[in-house]
Amino acid sequence: MRSWSIHLCSIFGIRLEIHATFFALLGIIACVGLLSDGTSGLFWSLIFILLVFTCLVLHELGHSLVAQYYGVEVIRILLLPIGGMAQFQSLPREASKELAISIAGPVVNFALVPLLLILGGIPWELAELSRRGAFPIVDPRTLFQALLMVNLVMGLFNLLPIFPMDGGRVLRALLTYRYSYLKSTATAALVSKILSTAGIFAALFVLPAFGLGIAVIPALLFAFIYMAGNMEYRIVERKELLNDLYIGDLIDNDYSVVHPDCPVGEALREFDQSQARALMIGDERETLFGMLLKDHIEILREESFLHGDPIGRHCERNVSLLQAQWPLDLFYEMLVRNRKKVFPVYAEGRLVGILDTERLQEKLAEHGVSAKRLGLPG
Ligand code: ZN
Repeated sequence: MRSWSIHLCSIFGIRLEIHATFFALLGIIACVGLLSDGTSGLFWSLIFILLVFTCLVLHELGHSLVAQYYGVEVIRILLLPIGGMAQFQSLPREASKELAISIAGPVVNFALVPLLLILGGIPWELAELSRRGAFPIVDPRTLFQALLMVNLVMGLFNLLPIFPMDGGRVLRALLTYRYSYLKSTATAALVSKILSTAGIFAALFVLPAFGLGIAVIPALLFAFIYMAGNMEYRIVERKELLNDLYIGDLIDNDYSVVHPDCPVGEALREFDQSQARALMIGDERETLFGMLLKDHIEILREESFLHGDPIGRHCERNVSLLQAQWPLDLFYEMLVRNRKKVFPVYAEGRLVGILDTERLQEKLAEHGVSAKRLGLPG
């Protein structure tokens, strides 16, 4: 996603990035404005959408500044056509901090309401123009009225107790005063699923029953929210299960090391004697040149005419290294989904072992982690 986002500026040391698809939204809004009310419509609709996104930035800045206050590093604020998102290095688990960070966004929206009320008054004109089916933003007054409605909706919608919206986090933070973090997340995720299912149902069946038509976009939005809630729970559960485990905890010593210049035949003999499962090709333990796994070794064994060649010429050079001190929960997904099965593991610049993903379950069980709860098959 990073490659598609454009760095606009930095505010309080936070990168503000805008996703390229946002410009498509600008184009659509411009067309709608132009078709509904000519150049005046074009002008007001563009001003409106830019101010809506300004409100969105202020909302995300609300979260970000409170997070910074608690010492959390804010990576960036990303603006997408469907809304904004502030990305943090890691969120604090203390209930009071999560509560303050989550609520700060909607608080900004609600704080803007009285200001907009002074500038544009109660949105009667906006409502009247909309009722007549006319383009509702025609002057600064109706512009402020529309922004008032946007901020009210933005504040309230975000407070729905649904992950990944602010209200979902507020609910979890409140629950953690009584229950464990995992249980609170599970409960908040369950509430999210029920409410987003109700949202999908309402958008597809209840609205049409009142003659309002099927609301496809809200239905899709709730479907997206449902999945996001589920993912939030999975991530927390995994983090909880793999708590305090590092790559280095899962390594084996079932490998032998040979020099790249070592003839294939000799390397095979070395491998057979060591009963290893992988052959590392390198200079001692410092620099790894490549690797050979059992399947490749068997192929090489058949081709006796290659046995005089240096092993470095026949090994797999494209090797991903892992570091023993890396926390497992961050790399778990990569390990499970990766096509590569064996990873050399380094610590302080030296090869210390291999991590074999086929033995991941076994290794996790040694640490009392059930593969089933992690969603691993078998
Ligand atoms: Zn928010």
